Amino acid sequence: MSFADLGLSEDLLKAIEAAGYTTPTQIQEQAIPRILEGRDVLGIAQTGTGKTASFTLPMIDRLAKGQTKARMPRSLILEPTRELAAQVAENFKIYGRNHKLNMALLIGGVSFEDQEQKLDRGVDVLVATPGRLLDHFERGRILLNGVQILVIDESDRMLDMGFIPDIERIVGLTPFTRQTLFFSATMPSEIRRLTDAFLSNPVIIEASPPATTVELVKQYKVSVPKDDKARRLILRQLIRSRDVKNAIVFCNRKRDVGILARSLQRHGFNAEPLHGDLDQYTRMKTLGNFRDGNIRILVASDVAARGLDIPDVSHIFNFNVPIHAEDYVHRIGRTGRAGRSGEACTLVSPEETKYIQSIVKLIGKELDSISPETKSEPASVARQNPQEKSRKKDSPRPPRHAQTGSAKKSSDKTITSPGDSRAVKPSTAKKEEVLGMGDHVPAFLLRPVRSGDPA
Ligand code: AMP
Repeated sequence: MSFADLGLSEDLLKAIEAAGYTTPTQIQEQAIPRILEGRDVLGIAQTGTGKTASFTLPMIDRLAKGQTKARMPRSLILEPTRELAAQVAENFKIYGRNHKLNMALLIGGVSFEDQEQKLDRGVDVLVATPGRLLDHFERGRILLNGVQILVIDESDRMLDMGFIPDIERIVGLTPFTRQTLFFSATMPSEIRRLTDAFLSNPVIIEASPPATTVELVKQYKVSVPKDDKARRLILRQLIRSRDVKNAIVFCNRKRDVGILARSLQRHGFNAEPLHGDLDQYTRMKTLGNFRDGNIRILVASDVAARGLDIPDVSHIFNFNVPIHAEDYVHRIGRTGRAGRSGEACTLVSPEETKYIQSIVKLIGKELDSISPETKSEPASVARQNPQEKSRKKDSPRPPRHAQTGSAKKSSDKTITSPGDSRAVKPSTAKKEEVLGMGDHVPAFLLRPVRSGDPA
């Protein structure tokens, strides 16, 4: 089947062709014609299945006719995180290039004024996170009774993040006559209750997880002791001993994301953290740099990474075994995409063996045991490993904030390590805390590397 068979307009088919897609995915094939007919849809699908295009494409055609009114969006898409919302907005820009639809993105970390101006001009498509949307509603800047199409995406993640009361309130503000498209990767009972309440005679589409998840990803487990320092050493050895082009390292706890990223940086790896506490600017910038290949290792929490469109990741490392087996499938779904092979390595301490058992049950296969090559590491920190050096020759690292402006001035002490021609500014250890402040970094945030930093 081709996109032309799905009932989409010529303008949209041209935009799809320009985006480089030739064949619809399973969920697109099933959802697009039904959404065009005006049916409600319950899509049980995770990211990587092409679900975003499965609702954005028919929405564009359905919204092509009609007038916008100030502060009354004609459609609303709810996303759990700012990054996901931004990605969906990006999809509308790509597919809607031949249409004149107005879109607004309401997410935290962006000024209210700009968003209000857009709302005042009238929007066809509003992409929002629940909290920011309700902020605008409470300021009297938006009305939801003109919403003809409502999309609730990543509903199970909304549940995890405690957004369900907000979602229920928002849905209550939209008209009964709306078309509702509801997506969730899993269907816990709380989500089933919502589908009963929000959807009217929906078409249920269950997209099988991308075949890659299980088949194309080589999955390994690596025994580690409970101690985090020992885990970090084993992780470094693993990264060095596998053929890593780029990787995401997942941690169960947000706190560990920062600690591990800093430790990896201090051991010469081109790594950056991504977690929910970082400001919006830093998250977007980090993600962009990772996508562009300027950052090689992204250290992330599940919430921060869920659903992000990061193509072509060669490796996933699970610094901890995810407690929910479904998170494991989501994590490793970031590699082995679109027919490419990938590798996932999970560090397992004796206490975590029970979680591995439920993962094995879910994916229906055992994880092979491997151990990293245990080459000894030089004792000093801020050292460059050979793999990193050769990579950087042809791919220069982006300018670092901590090395500019006031940051530069306040850190004139440099540390060099034996055999490393590169001088490292001590301030880089605190980089993730100063990003987003531009050059105006308070001096107290800049401090030399100390022996107490994570090893
Ligand atoms: P999603 O499941 O919406 O997160 O999409 C996963 C990835 O698949 C994104 O990188 C999309 O750009 C890509 N994609 C979506 N639809 C298609 C298609 N029909 N053919 C090829 N790639 C697609």
